[in-house]
Amino acid sequence: MTVFPQLVIPETLAAGPGPGNTDPRVLEAFAGAGVADHMQKDVLRGMIESKLMLRELWGTKNVYTFGVGGTGWSGLDCVESLILPGDKVVAFVNGTFSSIDGLTIRIKASSLDDLAADSLNPKPKNVITIDTPHGQSVTGEAVDKALAEHKPMWAFMAHWETGSGRVNDIKGFSDACEKHGVMGIVDAVSSLGVGDFNIDDYPGVVAWASCPQKGVLSLPLTYAPVSFTDKAIDVLKKRGCYTYVHHPIFEARHWGVIDGKDVDTPTYHRTHSGYAVAAFHEALRIILSYGRAAKANDYSYHEKALRQAVEGMGCEVTSDMPSLIVLNLPGKLAGKEKELVQGARSQGFGIWPTLSEPVQVRIGILNQLSADQIDEIASRFADAMLAMGAEFDKQQVMSQLKSYYAKAA
Ligand SMILES: *Cc1c(COP(=O)(O)O)cnc(C)c1O
Repeated sequence: MTVFPQLVIPETLAAGPGPGNTDPRVLEAFAGAGVADHMQKDVLRGMIESKLMLRELWGTKNVYTFGVGGTGWSGLDCVESLILPGDKVVAFVNGTFSSIDGLTIRIKASSLDDLAADSLNPKPKNVITIDTPHGQSVTGEAVDKALAEHKPMWAFMAHWETGSGRVNDIKGFSDACEKHGVMGIVDAVSSLGVGDFNIDDYPGVVAWASCPQKGVLSLPLTYAPVSFTDKAIDVLKKRGCYTYVHHPIFEARHWGVIDGKDVDTPTYHRTHSGYAVAAFHEALRIILSYGRAAKANDYSYHEKALRQAVEGMGCEVTSDMPSLIVLNLPGKLAGKEKELVQGARSQGFGIWPTLSEPVQVRIGILNQLSADQIDEIASRFADAMLAMGAEFDKQQVMSQLKSYYAKAA
């Protein structure tokens, strides 16, 4: 028998696309919760209050708004379970994550024959994938054109594609879905808790999913927020779906949503953790007290600061997301992206390469909304570049960053 020594995980600076640096208050809530079962009254109250705060954060009156235990893909599995074998779907893909969503959708829309033909990468004819090149955004015109041509039942898009750091046209997507009578499904993993938007302003979208660890900043494995319109739930009630654990109607019962109505007597769906509920509840309290609009402003403001700093180091930024910078290294370092990222990561500076071609560097600022924190990220990235032989004047870059903040103040 082998009993390993106790696992020690160091504190790193999470400066990637996610997970974000968890707020100490969230960790305290997690560790400070008492042992209580999943039907204890304060655990249930915490779930109901979280559901109400989630509606605030999503900007929605959708009754079917709740958290799916797990990670972003758990929430996405729940919303993408609306899709049944044979359904016609158009999936808009422009990077790593929307590609994985596309795979999930192809799996769900597959017949038994489609699965047997290529079980890990099925290609049912009823799923049409519209590829937008890495580094570009999905436009409303592209969505309109594809939906007019294919007339699917469902359309899928990522709100913000974290793989390439691009903001896609959510209004154009929703408008095109409405115009063509298509039900939209959106991966809002990266935008919830970072951007300032109300999902009720996009009625062409019937189902949304996000995650615990990005803008919501509640990593200690908690909940992936999801929201469904009544229309989506009606379709689901009529047709059903192939899951118990991620079944939106079953799952919502534990959050006090039964038969389309809020009730104060939730029923068992699965064993929720009081620790996770307490942490998630605290994370939602933090965002809502900060203010969704204030937070969105702060992300844009600090992203601009970091963007100018890395441009000052000779990098070319190709992203337009407020919480993430995706960049090409200057000519001399081109091709050394992975090496640079590995070097930084070995020093506890958690930046990322892109996960699919082309290879670029990704630096995120989740929960790093102060001049000091951006200064540290810029300084550590400058050191990583200089160690690889880049040529720029670090002092000049850092003093430009200081003057950005001085001017703003
Ligand atoms: C991070 C991310 C995911 C996956 O989330 P996990 O928490 O890793 O499951 C899916 N979609 C997008 C757009 C993401 O940014």
